Amino acid sequence: MKSIKSSRGRCTRRWFQAGSLVIVLFIGIQFYRFASALAGGAIPTVERPPGVEAFLPISALVSLKYYLFTGIINQIHPSGLVLFLIICLTALLFKRGFCSWICPVGLASEILARLHGAIFNHRLGLPKWLDRVFCSIKYAILGVFVWTIFLKMPLASVKGFMESPYNILADIKMLGFFTHISPLALGGITTLTVLSVVIQHFWCRYLCPYGALLGIIGFVSLGRIRRNPAVCTGCGKCERACPSMIAIREKESINSLGCSTCMGCVSVCPEDQAIGFSLFFGTMPVKHAGVALTLAALFSMGIGAARFQGHWQNRITNQEYLQLMNPQKGAAGHRRDAVIDPQKLERMGQMMKQMRSDGNAK
Ligand code: SF4
Ligand code: SF4
Repeated sequence: MKSIKSSRGRCTRRWFQAGSLVIVLFIGIQFYRFASALAGGAIPTVERPPGVEAFLPISALVSLKYYLFTGIINQIHPSGLVLFLIICLTALLFKRGFCSWICPVGLASEILARLHGAIFNHRLGLPKWLDRVFCSIKYAILGVFVWTIFLKMPLASVKGFMESPYNILADIKMLGFFTHISPLALGGITTLTVLSVVIQHFWCRYLCPYGALLGIIGFVSLGRIRRNPAVCTGCGKCERACPSMIAIREKESINSLGCSTCMGCVSVCPEDQAIGFSLFFGTMPVKHAGVALTLAALFSMGIGAARFQGHWQNRITNQEYLQLMNPQKGAAGHRRDAVIDPQKLERMGQMMKQMRSDGNAK
């Protein structure tokens, strides 16, 4: 009975991850069509999907500072901030649950980890001391971003950055990064892929600053995995299944920064009631389906509220986008011959500001 429930639970997360991936792919395809039309000098026939801004975490951090200091949600990438806040909110309930239930990179990391299992007889890993050193890298990267944006960047520069052509086109540049990938970037991605096969979850465990932030927020999360020592036999199956290599048997309540609420430990445990996820100090047990439904509800309600209040789609018109793009050269981005002259971009940015203030004056 327990094993039927466990596999049902595992399936729930797999289906949720698959659904999230379909949404991300849909957004990616729609955004590609939007950006391609602009790059060809035409007005796009598809609407720009605001969800693409989920991939602009630095812009979202800058927007967050602006919001905290002024109370204003920027209108360049409003959905970036909205999604960032929703994702942080999920961490208050499910720690790094975003990583194991929604993030496409997390899914790719799991697939590569399975490949690791198929290639190697036992789990390879770094020595404990080196693992600890490497684990700190993502916090250092996050620290640099937070220090630079929140402590070093004056508010005027924050506003300047948000309205700069660089930030306005950040999503299109990001697309260009993948559609016109440079040999250096391709080499970097290939290296990370190989490393993630050799050492499971290399990117998520050691390098991802987003995961680091969610882990820190998750430290004060209302939910966590709890083990019942009265029922637990100490078999260790949970620890072997844990992608974050948490010493579950040493604890009753798992408050590790690395826990992604993947529920892998719950799924593999052969004992009924020995381990489970619960909210509010263990008073509210939550199964896989409960996590899935809550995550879906948080995103739906957050996005719905943002739409209702006009903080979802940005206010940049297609004409303004066209002015900022080089119609002869394709999407502004990382291909060398497609980079727009920075001075030209600056002039266009000034033009846009002028157009806006003229519009406001009218
Ligand atoms: S798998 Fe279950 S019984 Fe085995 S050690 Fe983990 S919690 Fe205890
Ligand atoms: S296996 Fe359990 S302890 Fe490990 S990350 Fe997943 S939910 Fe957290």
